[in-house]
Amino acid sequence: MTFNLNKIVSPNILSLAPYRCARDEFEGSAEIYLDANENPFDNGLNRYPDPYQTELKKEIASLKNISEESIFLGNGSDEAIDLLFRIFCIPGKDNYIAITPSYGMYEVCGNVNNVERRAALLTDNFEIDLPQINSQIDSNTKLIFLCSPNNPSGNILDVNAVQALANNFHGVVVIDEAYIDFSFSESATTLLEKYPNIVVLQTLSKAWGLAAIRLGMAMASKDIITLFNKVKYPYNVNLLTQEKALEYLKEKKEMVSQQIAEIISERERVKELLSTIPAVIKVFPSEANFLLVKMDEAENIYSTLLKKGTVVRNRSKVILCEGCLRITIGTPIENQKIIEQLTEII
Ligand code: PMP
Repeated sequence: MTFNLNKIVSPNILSLAPYRCARDEFEGSAEIYLDANENPFDNGLNRYPDPYQTELKKEIASLKNISEESIFLGNGSDEAIDLLFRIFCIPGKDNYIAITPSYGMYEVCGNVNNVERRAALLTDNFEIDLPQINSQIDSNTKLIFLCSPNNPSGNILDVNAVQALANNFHGVVVIDEAYIDFSFSESATTLLEKYPNIVVLQTLSKAWGLAAIRLGMAMASKDIITLFNKVKYPYNVNLLTQEKALEYLKEKKEMVSQQIAEIISERERVKELLSTIPAVIKVFPSEANFLLVKMDEAENIYSTLLKKGTVVRNRSKVILCEGCLRITIGTPIENQKIIEQLTEII
C-alpha cells in the first residue's frame, strides 16, 4: 500500500504554518538582544533556549546514525505520544489501535484528544496478532501503537510482523522503544529509510538514567518531523535539560554503557533466583530493565512486600497479566533484598 502523508494528517495541521518565535525569526547572532522581552540581567537562565535544540540533535543524530532533520525532541517521549494524536487524529472521528497490554499513556493521550481506542490484544506470549490488528483497521485508523520491548511484558516484538503492518497500513506505525538500550535486538530506526510511515520513540529516561530531566525523542521521515515542529510549543525543551542531556551524550557514554551491562546481567541473575521461589509460576522473558513475574497470590505478595518497604508494580488486574507483578531491576543490593523478602514471605 502506498503511504500518502498529506492524506492522513489532520487538515488543520496540514494548512498550519509553524509558529515563529523571536529566536526563529532571527537566526544569526547579535551583540544586543532586545527581541524576545527577556530580562537582560545575566543569570545563565534569562534567555530562551534554542527552540530546535540544534546542538543536542547533532549529538543524537550521530549516536543514532540518522539525520538531524529526522529527530523531534520533546518533554519526555510522553510529549511525542500526545503530539502524534494532535497531528494525525481528528477528535471524535478518527481512531487508533494500540497493542494490549502496553504502556498506559497511549490510552491517556487518546482519551485527552478524544480519539477512539481499538485495543489489539497480544497473544499469550505477548506477540503481535496481525490478523486481529488488520481486522480493526478502517479508513479512519490513523495510528498503530507498538511497544518493543513491550511494557509490561518485557519482550521484543517480531520485526517481521512490524514490517508487515507498516507495509499494509495507510497510517502511521509508532514503535515505542523506551527500553531498547537493554535489548540486544536492532532498533527499528534501521527501518526508517525504507518505511515513510514509521515513527520510533526513544527516551533518556531509562538506560541513560535521566528520567528527571524529561527528554524523549521521535525519529521519523523529515516530512513527519516537520509536522511535529508545526505543533510543538516553541521552547518545549528547557535549557537545563538540553545542557544535561548534552553532557551525558558527550561525556558519560562509557559510564552509561557499564550501567546498562550491569542492569542486563542483574536481570538475568534475578530471573534465575526468582525461578527458584516456589510461589513464582513464571518469569517472562525480558529484554528490558524489568521482569514480569506470574505468582500465586500476587496481590498478597504485593502488599506484604510493601509492608517490608519494597514497592513493585501490581499488574495483576491487567489483561493477560493476571497474577503478575512487574519488578524493576535495581542495584545488586536492592535486588538481593527483594529476593530475600520474597523468600521470607513464602
Ligand atoms: N514509553 C514507555 C513504554 C514507557 O514505559 C515509558 C515510561 N515508563 C515512557 C514511554 C515514557 O518515557 P518518558 O519518560 O520519555 O516520557
